[in-house]
Amino acid sequence: MSFVVAPPPTVAVPVAGGGAFPVHRIYCVGRNYVEHAQEMGFSGREPPFFFMKPADAAVPVVDGETGRIEYPSLTGNLHHEIELVVAIGMGGRDIKAADAARHIWGYAVGLDMTRRDLQNEMKKQGRPWCIGKAFEQAAPIGPIVPIASTGELTHGAITLAVNGQPRQKGDLKELIWNVNEIIEHLSAAWTLQPGDLIFTGTPAGVAAVTRGDVMEGRVEGLPELRVAVA
Ligand code: MN
Repeated sequence: MSFVVAPPPTVAVPVAGGGAFPVHRIYCVGRNYVEHAQEMGFSGREPPFFFMKPADAAVPVVDGETGRIEYPSLTGNLHHEIELVVAIGMGGRDIKAADAARHIWGYAVGLDMTRRDLQNEMKKQGRPWCIGKAFEQAAPIGPIVPIASTGELTHGAITLAVNGQPRQKGDLKELIWNVNEIIEHLSAAWTLQPGDLIFTGTPAGVAAVTRGDVMEGRVEGLPELRVAVA
């Protein structure tokens, strides 16, 4: 059978040390650090919840380079959310937290870019968040580092600076739902596949960026992610 339009290209995230990770789906966890949940008006005591971005929202950034995103349409309040990203190497469903680490291929630093004004409007109206979260270039991501070389990442600083000024600051040990628990909850709702990425939530300090800003995201033990807003 021949395709009637060109099939979409596979989105590939570079792997530190060589090779590429093909992206299947991008899952995201909402409000997963207490202080960030509080800054969004919540208690930080709710069960985990998820949303998705399309695979081609990923903007892979090569180690040592500065990625570029276009300022997106329809918004006047584009927010940065720095996050630890988990790359799934082995799929499965109903994975238990105690067994979850076997399913992790590696980790990266990612940005869950958010059209906050549109997201807030959708929240107010009880409508889906897609227009606020799942737009083009909404998921810049740095190189993926194999878990074989990092070990399980359970603590360590996670920070974001804009134009050299600190904005977000937290520690992976402050995740309300840790990575293994996220995988347990997520795989109860969807069958995880090799190639899935999970954005695990952002610490406090989310704020707006404008054209010309450069974001520098860091998670201890992983290559820095630098992204300019064009
Ligand atoms: Mn987020």
